[in-house]
Amino acid sequence: MLDKSVTEIPGVGGKYAEDLALLHIYTIEDLLNYFPYRYDVYEIKPLAELIHDDKVTIEGRVVHDPTLQFYGKRKSRLTFTVEVEGVAIKAVMFNRAFAKKQIHIDNIITLTGKWDAHRLQITVSQYKLGPAEDQAKIQPMYSLKGNLTNIKLKKTVQQAINQYLHEVPEILPERYLTAYKIPERKTAIQTMHFPANRLALKHAKRRFVFEEFLLFQLKMQLLRKLKREATQGNAQHYDVDKVEEFINSFPFSLTNAQKKSLQQILSDMKSPYRMNRLLQGDVGSGKTAVAAIGLFASITAGKQGALMVPTEILAEQHYESLEELFADKANIALLTGSVKGKKRKEILEQLENHDIDIVIGTHALIQDDVNFSDLGFVIVDEQHRFGVEQRRALRDKGLQPDVLFMTATPIPRTLAITAFGDMDVSVIDEMPKGRKEIGTYWAKDNMFERVLKMIEKHVAQGEQAYVICPLIEESDKLDIQDAVDLYHQLVEYFPAHLKVGLMHGRLKSNEKEDVMKKFAENEVQVLVSTTVVEVGVNVPNATIMVIYDAERFGLSQLHQLRGRVGRGNKQSYCILIADPKGEVGKERMRIMTETTNGFELSEQDLKLRGPGDFFGKKQSGVPEFKVADMVHDYKALETARVDAQEMIENNLLYEDEEYFSLRKLLESDPVFTNTLD
Ligand code: ADP
Ligand code: MG
Repeated sequence: MLDKSVTEIPGVGGKYAEDLALLHIYTIEDLLNYFPYRYDVYEIKPLAELIHDDKVTIEGRVVHDPTLQFYGKRKSRLTFTVEVEGVAIKAVMFNRAFAKKQIHIDNIITLTGKWDAHRLQITVSQYKLGPAEDQAKIQPMYSLKGNLTNIKLKKTVQQAINQYLHEVPEILPERYLTAYKIPERKTAIQTMHFPANRLALKHAKRRFVFEEFLLFQLKMQLLRKLKREATQGNAQHYDVDKVEEFINSFPFSLTNAQKKSLQQILSDMKSPYRMNRLLQGDVGSGKTAVAAIGLFASITAGKQGALMVPTEILAEQHYESLEELFADKANIALLTGSVKGKKRKEILEQLENHDIDIVIGTHALIQDDVNFSDLGFVIVDEQHRFGVEQRRALRDKGLQPDVLFMTATPIPRTLAITAFGDMDVSVIDEMPKGRKEIGTYWAKDNMFERVLKMIEKHVAQGEQAYVICPLIEESDKLDIQDAVDLYHQLVEYFPAHLKVGLMHGRLKSNEKEDVMKKFAENEVQVLVSTTVVEVGVNVPNATIMVIYDAERFGLSQLHQLRGRVGRGNKQSYCILIADPKGEVGKERMRIMTETTNGFELSEQDLKLRGPGDFFGKKQSGVPEFKVADMVHDYKALETARVDAQEMIENNLLYEDEEYFSLRKLLESDPVFTNTLD
């Protein structure tokens, strides 16, 4: 009975059980699945093979009793000499005065610590009396809370294994164990806690990596399937010829990537299932153009469409470009917070009686009194800027409308199939022809004045520039101060006719809109800003993007910022001002100057920063795995994804007995009862 309380184990109770609860260990099963977060390896190597500054383990004989020195309050240093291979090694131990009573001349002792090869000295972090053979070489190290100690927890885990391991069921069908040469669950659990050697540990880990990914993929894919089946009956019968005609009216032809994404969207619309699709592509890759065709198709099917964006400026820009694309083919309205009174009332009426085909707007679209006659197609741009509730609120204004999410943040494939595993994903990974590549340069701090001269020169040619200051999340104040200081410096530096604007997160929204408008209309030539300018804004006349303290940004963010320029037909530049200290920072600057492909950058970013940081802290949506690491184990992720797909397509979970325990496990997950929305 693995679901019995841990208190069934002799010696576990009271305070100890409370401490285990802090680690979310309540049952025997929880305990067995509480794996070490790392392992200490005590492997004795010949002195000659020890590497300077490495953590090493040595075994020797104590040559004399330790001497203890105190310096400062509670600070102490214990030193003694051990003889190893006939060589005298000095051992130093800090702040462990009590050890003086335990270590004596002629003791055999095993020491682990940092090795100084020049002075033949070890700074001891762990010691144990007795020879090394007496201990297992690979020691599990658990994360601890409360009064727990590693030794105590280790002992309890050992007891649980002795008593209950035989009850642990296998959940993977035999064929996967054979095909991937992975150990069965029992063996793997035992090995995770008490590995006999590195190889065994590697295989046990492989098993849990696969198991975690497989369960996760099954969950996501099942959810997607259930969601689809719950929404049958919304097929949109659009007019293929009219859609074709609409595409032909564009002043350009679609790129292959656009065509492919469009096909995926149109076939979702045609199908009886509700579309739940993410369209990703770099800024300027032509997502909006594709979305517009979807909207048009929906209109020919007699439906209405809605496009929700995070800011008013963006709403206005989308409104203008869609007006241009649609000309007289649709009735388009703009609904934002600044549309009020009579005008607003009129739009609401027209939406209800279907005089308006497409509405573009901000959060204003999800107000209670906004009603549609027949909303069939919903688009959410920069989807990560909206909460789940907001996205749902817009969708619920129609009867099972098709939903398309758009994002200009290229998402690495591994993240896309984990964080967005319950959505279909289309990718535009190709830029329209004829775009000029943005020249990207890395400048040191002391070149700032030259950068300013360059800005001045380009402004003289009628162009505009952004100067971005980094955002430091922990200290908003400081962050704004940087931008404000820089703003004053530039106002001083540039001649009076060159107007400098300032934009930051503390401005009121009408102030922000005002500055952006002035910049968009070239009344302001140089815009100093924090990263609030990051999303969506389109000022084609801006050709220079200067990013101050660029080493503070991740690659994806730098790429987003860079995407603010290069939107017109003039050559654009991105200047990264940075004096990165570490190699990672330098590497990032190099990568930025070498590639303008967002997907390539996002993959690199994921490698450099890890999945947790990728989307920033808020609503990251990135699942946490216990053993698996999606960057390191991406191959296993792909394997698990394909296997999950096969299981679902062939209905194995329901038809093949070998898969029933997997299914049971999945069915016990609350996600299937709670989030079927
Ligand atoms: P995104 O929404 O991905 O940022 P848009 O759809 O707004 O990109 O397109 C950016 C610009 O490129 C627009 O001016 C648009 O008219 C133009 N554009 C879109 N697709 C193409 C294409 N296939 N060829 C040339 N220009 C295009
Ligand atoms: Mg766009």
